[in-house]
Amino acid sequence: MTAAADRLFVNGEVHTLAAPDETHGAVAVRDGAIVRLGSTRDVEFLEGVDTDVVDLGGRVLLPGFVDAHTHLTTVGRYLVHADLSGADSPDEAVDLLAERATEVDAESDSDAPADPVLGYGYDESTWEEDRYLTRADLDRVSTERPVAAFREDMHVAAVNGVVLDRFADALAAAPDETVPTDADGEPTGVLLESAIDPIYEAIEPGPAETREIVEAALADCAAKGIAGFHDMVRNSHAPRAYRELDAEGELTARVRVNYWSDHLDALREVGLGTNDGSDMVRTGAIKSYTDGSFGGRTARLSEPYADAPDETGQWVVDPRELSETVAAATAAGYQFTAHAIGDEAVDAVLDAYEEASEADPGEARHRIEHVELADDEAIDRLATSGVVASVQPNFLKWAGEDGLYEARLGQERTAETNRYRDMLDAGVTLAFGSDGMPMDPLLGVHHAVNAPAEAQRLTVTEALRAYTRGAAYAGFDEDRLGTVAVGKRADLVALDASPWEAPDAIRDIGVAMTVVDGDVVYDER
Ligand SMILES: [Zn+2]
Repeated sequence: MTAAADRLFVNGEVHTLAAPDETHGAVAVRDGAIVRLGSTRDVEFLEGVDTDVVDLGGRVLLPGFVDAHTHLTTVGRYLVHADLSGADSPDEAVDLLAERATEVDAESDSDAPADPVLGYGYDESTWEEDRYLTRADLDRVSTERPVAAFREDMHVAAVNGVVLDRFADALAAAPDETVPTDADGEPTGVLLESAIDPIYEAIEPGPAETREIVEAALADCAAKGIAGFHDMVRNSHAPRAYRELDAEGELTARVRVNYWSDHLDALREVGLGTNDGSDMVRTGAIKSYTDGSFGGRTARLSEPYADAPDETGQWVVDPRELSETVAAATAAGYQFTAHAIGDEAVDAVLDAYEEASEADPGEARHRIEHVELADDEAIDRLATSGVVASVQPNFLKWAGEDGLYEARLGQERTAETNRYRDMLDAGVTLAFGSDGMPMDPLLGVHHAVNAPAEAQRLTVTEALRAYTRGAAYAGFDEDRLGTVAVGKRADLVALDASPWEAPDAIRDIGVAMTVVDGDVVYDER
């Protein structure tokens, strides 16, 4: 006799997202795995007394999304502390910080005004009053507690008088240009670049706060249909939080931890290799950098910036050092992933991968993060070598007319950014992710389907695949995740509307339900 299913999903429009995409009406799940696919009638015989039958009411059911590139604790900080990304003016930012101050007051002992009030993600460039937040603003939040607000790029901060007093020595030692002063020579409370470092150090979350931040971000993942993500980690307590939650059976998304290259020796010494771990938490790749960003004009270009004719960007990690790190990690059996945004940086990573791999770098499943500007030759090399392009379709918000790309690169090169169509047609594996800006797969799919450069648009099915099986492949997970198929893990997401029916409004589609390993981790039906 066939054992009953633990859970049946019936009356749905189930897309497998395999090639070709097939649709079914129902899915049966037992022990966290998909055991049958078919019409609602095809699975009904698996209903037992303890079976939970979920009526999808015609909703679209897809494989759970996998975000191939995020920084989960950064996402969580926005959720736990004041999220200033929605503020439209300095006053509104101050109001949001004041709300957070009330929460901090309620959470802490009345005689412990040491707990800081923190806000993240303000962007004054969108304000009518286009100026940084200052000490004067933040003193209105509190003159007893430390208060700090960080610009979205984390390169600019504002602090109140309490912080200025407490860090007076460190700030006096910082380079003058990083601590702007007013007409009287007093610090304005604006801090730039390295002057912010002592503040960052002081607010670095410990294990308990990290767990709180991780849990907040995990709840957000579940609400966005994210069943798994690849985290980028450096000197963080997050891996410990993931493993604790996993041991307690409380982890609601699968985590692949990519460690910064300065952790390589430690990983090797404790014997943690790529793909080691449990069903829920695994060690991923060794991560490094090459260049910076277009925003900071630090991405490495073969031709100068359109708005700075003498500049071609900077190496954050120079190619020789990168090659050595890639060689060491590859020789030790690790997958590798490197941040590369400008065309020259993409070429440098491909050089390093090709040098380090005796066979082909695709076998080690090396990846490049971002690949925002790549020429034809680079795309051919990606395809031939099997190196994964881990890209962030939400970055297309910069690709519109008068956007950041056009300012930095000019019109012609802007049309050549984020060439998803060319990469897919050449045979490159695309893995979609968000870089945490924000974590929202449907927003990314929306951008990829409606890209400003029409020639680079993906179909709805292709874009959804990059956020499911493409991302799963980037984590060696294509046999267990990424499509709806018998034998695969039951990681699923139900949507309130069909992305195929309204391709120009995919970002507005609500997530109705998220399922991880057969368990419902989010239900908004
Ligand atoms: Zn990143």
